[in-house]
Amino acid sequence: MRLILLGPPGVGKGTQAAAIIEKYSIPHISTGDIFRANIKGKTELGKKVEEYMNKGLLVPDDLVVSIVKDRIVKDDCKDGFLLDGFPRTVAQAEALDEELSKMSLVIDKVINIEAEKDILIERAIGRRICKDCGATYHVKFSPAKQDGICDKCGGELYQRKDDTLDTVEKRIEVYLEQTKPLIDYYAKKGLLLNVDGTKDKKEVFNDIVKALE
Ligand code: ADP
Ligand code: AMP
Repeated sequence: MRLILLGPPGVGKGTQAAAIIEKYSIPHISTGDIFRANIKGKTELGKKVEEYMNKGLLVPDDLVVSIVKDRIVKDDCKDGFLLDGFPRTVAQAEALDEELSKMSLVIDKVINIEAEKDILIERAIGRRICKDCGATYHVKFSPAKQDGICDKCGGELYQRKDDTLDTVEKRIEVYLEQTKPLIDYYAKKGLLLNVDGTKDKKEVFNDIVKALE
C-alpha cells in the first residue's frame, strides 16, 4: 500500500504514522525527520535546509524531491510506504506522480487529517521529542511519566526549534498557501480520505483504518 499523510503542522501526522506503519508493515518516510537527522549529523544537506526550517519556510522543491526519489526506490519500499509531510507543494506532487509512473506505480490513498488553527498551535507548542529514539510526547495530551525523560528509552526530551508560537503560525500560513491546494489535487484523482483530527489519537487512528478498508 502506497499512502500519503496530508495535513497542517501539528495535526498529528507523525503520531498516526507510527500506528499506521505498525499495522500495515510499511516504512515511514518523513521528510521532516530526514532533514532533522541531517541537521543533527551536520551534513551538507543539513546545512542547506536548517535556515528554511527554523524560519518555518518550505525547503526548496528540488532538494526534497531528490531525497524522496532516492528513498522510494529502496528495497524496503517495494511493497509500499507511508509518506508523511511530502508532498507539500503541487510541484512536489507532480514530481512524485512522474517518478511513480516511471516505475508503473501509483499512490493508493491520501489520508487528509484536519483540525482548526488553535488546536494545531496547542499541539505543536506542547510537542516534545526524544533526542535518542524520536518518540513524540505532548506536555498535556501525552506526557512522559517522568518529566523530560523518554518512557521508551530514557532519552532526554527536547522541543523542536520550529515549535515556537511565531514559527508555528508561519508554518500554518505556509501550509494554507502552498500545501492546502493538494487537497483538491488528490480529491480530483479520487484518492482523498478526510479524517477529523480533533479527536483523541486512538479514535483518529480507528477512523483512518475504517477509511482505508
Ligand atoms: P505532525 O506530525 O502533524 O506535525 P505530531 O504527530 O507530531 O504532528 O503531533 C503534534 C503534537 O500533538 C504531539 O505532541 C502529539 O503528541 C500531539 N497529538 C497528536 N495527535 C493528537 C491528538 N489526537 N490529540 C491530542 N494531541 C495529539
Ligand atoms: P515536519 O517535520 O513535517 O513538520 O517538517 C518540518 C520542516 O521541514 C518544514 O517546516 C519544512 O521546513 C521542512 N520540510 C519537511 N518536509 C518538506 C517538504 N515536503 N517540502 C518542503 N519542506 C519540507
